[in-house]
Amino acid sequence: MSRTIHLSPPDVGPLEESYLVAALRSGWVAPVGPELDAFERETAARTGTRGAVAVSSGTAALHLALLAVGVRPGDVVVVPTLTFVATANAVRYTGARPVLVDCDPLTGNLDVALVEKLLTRLSDRGERVGAVVPVDLFGSCADYSTLVPLCERFDVPIVEDAAEALGATHAGRPAGSFGRIGVLSFNGNKIITTSGGGMLLSDEPELLARCRYLATQARQPVPHYEHTEVGYNYRLSNLLAAIGLAQLRRLDGMVARRRHLRERYEKLFAPVPGVQVLGAEDRAANCWLTTVVVDSARTGWEPGRLGEYLAARDIETRPVFKPMHLQPAYSDAEALLTGAAEKLFTTGLTLPSGSALTEADTTLVLAAIEGFIAAPGQHATHPD
Ligand SMILES: *Cc1c(COP(=O)(O)O)cnc(C)c1O
Repeated sequence: MSRTIHLSPPDVGPLEESYLVAALRSGWVAPVGPELDAFERETAARTGTRGAVAVSSGTAALHLALLAVGVRPGDVVVVPTLTFVATANAVRYTGARPVLVDCDPLTGNLDVALVEKLLTRLSDRGERVGAVVPVDLFGSCADYSTLVPLCERFDVPIVEDAAEALGATHAGRPAGSFGRIGVLSFNGNKIITTSGGGMLLSDEPELLARCRYLATQARQPVPHYEHTEVGYNYRLSNLLAAIGLAQLRRLDGMVARRRHLRERYEKLFAPVPGVQVLGAEDRAANCWLTTVVVDSARTGWEPGRLGEYLAARDIETRPVFKPMHLQPAYSDAEALLTGAAEKLFTTGLTLPSGSALTEADTTLVLAAIEGFIAAPGQHATHPD
């Protein structure tokens, strides 16, 4: 009878349909075209950057960004341990070594004091640090007020993984604009989507030109096919850019809906001792995903129990990203840890946060959580 309420489903409708059909009918069914140009131009304008290059995924964007800032095989690249695996994978693609850093327990973002300790240690060892890749976790910007001057002092470029953060700001500046290059994702679950896609953002036209060249099989500008180095086919389709353009023009409304949803969760959990909304202090977040952190010694219940209870009612939840240092693929990576990421992994639960959630969906989710809080010991399965 019921359908599942997902964590962050795509929020697409008639506007996306009309843009997509118009692009299809125009004949620009290729990885070039007017929608692609407009999508790049408007995303750059929206993020306060001089230019943008659209690509096939956020992961591809990260890969090109690292190459463009000069990351080479044998370099080390500083990456948060608390992130989606794509951040670390992109480092591996370049032949560099990811070094993992723990997070601030209150925000989940890079612990900047720890980054300083690590950069000092790496520099004492004579390692070449190719980049620092902060992640704007769940749509909250990292602490750029301290991270940017720190990286300048060590002369290490920042590649901002803003995959989750389009529409967020920090100290009045848009997410995606803090590094030499910033990266966005338009995967189906992100704040806006092209079904799959990504974007590179920068104030440096040469860096963007390098990314565009590498994304286009490193083809030389001559009539025959001439290649002096190995490139990639990472371009975004003009049809998908049409969807993205429609999404971008609806961004403000979608961010407002996610923020509203977070406020409702905050209100609901405010009287519950031992439950905190992660990063609730950040009023400039885009609220891509709302996560609660549960101190089970005070609540008497584990976050996993709430997750099971909601799953039985067809409501999707998810644990916080499992930290990279706990992933078999990255267990051999050097890491500077405090235990903060691991603690968020075991105590956090991410709740339905999508802008496509209807009022009825929201009411259902909130009522179910209230039911659980009132009687957490009861019926793990649906009474119906
Ligand atoms: C989604 C995501 C990516 C990867 O983006 P794709 O478009 O799925 O390749 C990278 N980093 C973070 C933090 C993400 O959340």
